[in-house]
Amino acid sequence: MTQDVAALRAILHRIDGRGYKAYKEIQGRWRFPDFTLLIDHVQGDPFAAPTRARVLVPARVAQFPPEHFSNPSRAWGLAAYLARSFDRLARQRSHHRGTGHSGEIRMEAPGQEVLPQTAVLIHPDGQVEARFTVGLPASGRRILGRQAAELLLEDLPSVVEGSLRYAVHPPETVWEHVATNEDADALRAALAPRGLVAFVANGAILPRRSGVDDRPLQEGIVVPFQSPPSLEVTIQLPHAGPVAGMGIPEGVTLIVGGGFHGKSTLLRALERGVYNHRPGDGRERVVSRVDGVKIRAEDGRSVSGVDISPFINNLPYGLPTDNFSTPNASGSTSQAANIMEALEAGAHLLLIDEDTAATNFMIRDRRMQALVPKEQEPITPYIDRVRQLYQELGVSSVLVIGGSGDYLDVADTVIAMHEYRPVDVTERARQVAQAQPTGRVNEAAGSFGPRPARIPLPHSLDPRKGRREVSIKVRGLHAIQFGRETIDLAAVEQLVAWGQTRAIGDALWYARERYMDGRRTLAQILDRVLADVETEGLDVLDRRKVGDLAGFRRFELAAALNRLRSLRVRQAE
Ligand code: ADP
Ligand code: MG
Repeated sequence: MTQDVAALRAILHRIDGRGYKAYKEIQGRWRFPDFTLLIDHVQGDPFAAPTRARVLVPARVAQFPPEHFSNPSRAWGLAAYLARSFDRLARQRSHHRGTGHSGEIRMEAPGQEVLPQTAVLIHPDGQVEARFTVGLPASGRRILGRQAAELLLEDLPSVVEGSLRYAVHPPETVWEHVATNEDADALRAALAPRGLVAFVANGAILPRRSGVDDRPLQEGIVVPFQSPPSLEVTIQLPHAGPVAGMGIPEGVTLIVGGGFHGKSTLLRALERGVYNHRPGDGRERVVSRVDGVKIRAEDGRSVSGVDISPFINNLPYGLPTDNFSTPNASGSTSQAANIMEALEAGAHLLLIDEDTAATNFMIRDRRMQALVPKEQEPITPYIDRVRQLYQELGVSSVLVIGGSGDYLDVADTVIAMHEYRPVDVTERARQVAQAQPTGRVNEAAGSFGPRPARIPLPHSLDPRKGRREVSIKVRGLHAIQFGRETIDLAAVEQLVAWGQTRAIGDALWYARERYMDGRRTLAQILDRVLADVETEGLDVLDRRKVGDLAGFRRFELAAALNRLRSLRVRQAE
């Protein structure tokens, strides 16, 4: 039942001064002149998780032109723009009134990446739904009814009206957000037909302000990206028209060059290129294939039943490597496990930076081969598998390698970064490789081959904690508390939004309940979960219609599961 807003005002005045619990009375649907407010869940006290609410703005009020949301690319671009403007206005208009978060209206606004999310949804009929939280005002545990009336009946309508209607925005700005997002999807779709794994447009701004600020660098020297002529391709986009930039071909690509010349910055842009970016980010037209996965060393992580034998064999004391488990992986074994797990989840592009790779996993030069015989070295270095990965499995690699010329022998493309500018040095690299043979022997025994699929055992995911049957909490971007265990995601570098982590926390449980039956493989489970999210939306993971979920990839869901220390698997025959 929908009640009139006058009734809401009457309640708020009546409960002024009473105990906080009386706020429960305002749960429900309220009809405002231009929208409907749904108060879904009222917080229990001023310090509890804030009250969850939604507004529904009908199409006749919102009035976004249908071509702004006529396909998912456009709708998500528009939704991200609206979420940012709602959040910005909410921070301006709502102010602190009393205890805890009293008086605050907050939305989980997107960062630089444009992802499917649940903060703002554009429905097919043009209705706009916004989900947010409010801190219902209190002094101690006493209700501040008048302040609540101000918050809900004045602040909120002004935020809604100032952000969720087409009329209040410059039309060209709105369209830019819509068109940019569709162009990015078109650009990514253009990679495979051209045999490319990534594309970086001329003029792109890759460096960020700092390690903790993902906005584009603005101060001092900023060198816009400019493709070397030999790697330049031009791609026709639906809105921007022809766009020229550097195409990175399939195969094995090295990024070389002196320290501090921009190698890692380029690789990081490619890592993030699996997602779209907002206008003004600088990376709007930097895209990589969706199944590109950053690989790094991650010593200390747990590993459960992974076949790492293409890279690691003959461990001391006969520890098996075709079904490798450890609560405490080394640099090289963790990197091997990260690769095998990425392949299991369907990766076709591996991105590796020497800065975060295990040296002994990457290289083993002629002198070391002479000093330590193969029989005493468990590791088959990446350099001896990288071509097989491409030739046998179609998996490309982009590697930042400033420190080892041995890799020149295995590269298809070599890009040198010089003063933040890429130079195609493939031909010169070939000459150097010929003139100065490394003398090393390839130590890869046998083919890379398909590896056994793993079947997660459902009982090994236990979300119970204390008296709660299911306790899953997200502690920042990089940690999920799953039952009594904390999943450490610090090394999962393509996780970019809290909303993704929250959704992944829910998805672990969803996967366990729906699809883990002791027979389905991990890859099959990922297929099912991602298909459900694709067809039914993120709400399938949390039926409460929360506003803080964001779209995630199968690789990050797999990464969370693989880092659950209690995880047990069996290998399929
Ligand atoms: P490398 O990996 O080659 O050692 P980085 O990619 O870490 O170098 O870059 C070194 C520094 O240069 C970083 O502070 C980075 O922000 C900055 N930088 C990278 N690319 C550019 C660019 N195009 N314009 C301006 N500064 C840049
Ligand atoms: Mg670097």
